[in-house]
Amino acid sequence: MTTRRTLLTAAAALPLAAPAILRATGARAQGDDAPATGPLAHRTRPFAIGGLTVTPLLSGAAVRDDPHSIFGLNVDDATFEEVSAEARIPADAAQFFFTPTLVEDGTNVILFDTGLDPTGMTAALEAAGRAPGDVTHVAITHMHPDHIGGLSQDGTPTFENAEHLAGATEMAAWEEDPSDAFTAKVLPIRDRFTLIEPGAAVGPAEAVEAFGHTPGHMAFRVADGDAAMLLIADTANHPIWSLEHPDWEVLFDMDKAAAAATRRELLGMAAADGTPILGYHMPFPAVGYVEEAGDGFRWIPHSYQLFL
Ligand SMILES: [Zn+2]
Repeated sequence: MTTRRTLLTAAAALPLAAPAILRATGARAQGDDAPATGPLAHRTRPFAIGGLTVTPLLSGAAVRDDPHSIFGLNVDDATFEEVSAEARIPADAAQFFFTPTLVEDGTNVILFDTGLDPTGMTAALEAAGRAPGDVTHVAITHMHPDHIGGLSQDGTPTFENAEHLAGATEMAAWEEDPSDAFTAKVLPIRDRFTLIEPGAAVGPAEAVEAFGHTPGHMAFRVADGDAAMLLIADTANHPIWSLEHPDWEVLFDMDKAAAAATRRELLGMAAADGTPILGYHMPFPAVGYVEEAGDGFRWIPHSYQLFL
């Protein structure tokens, strides 16, 4: 059973929920018998992309104080507060979501990223009617703790029947300079991984180079015929601070200039062709559209388009 304490402990180790003061939300949903409240009350939301089923899985959520210590490192407080006020969001706290995504084509059951820990990941999967043993492929966008946390526990893989896929560049970077999370979650199951390059096919998805947030960060384009969705992972992590201002520096972007260039490139592509995007940390269900606006982009949350 995951308690508030274990959720906080897990959250403390991950970038977007990092140090300072955290208020975990919906923590009871992770194991208590009481009904889920808050964002975790609704953990799944399937969409149709052509003949594919794409299901965002809410594996966790957390409130982070002082978001200006994460977003907009290169702008002053007054600018940050003004932009936030115009968007009707507070400047002193923000809610983040952790949204691994399941893509099913009738044969493959592909999980993109694994959340904070196996408990939250498994609970979200089960809410979607799936068990860890059903997953045929696990694809990792990058190796920050909030994306690899659900891969294993004490050396035991969570997805025992799955082929594990990760970017060759990403794996090499963390092998060279291993984090605690990499050592705990990836290394014990390292021999399960097949390394892939941008352009590689993963079932109906194609890996897309999106370097910058981490050295080998990858997005995935999921497509069936003309229908497509772009899983942008951590290319842009906030609908206002990242999309409206792609050049605002983000604490967890390891190469800030490359990350900003990738943001503009991927969001520009999605804006140009109208492809819906799914952002791992965006407000659940994390799906929306973008259009060019001002010096950046405007976020148009999904309402019902993909259900028609
Ligand atoms: Zn992340």
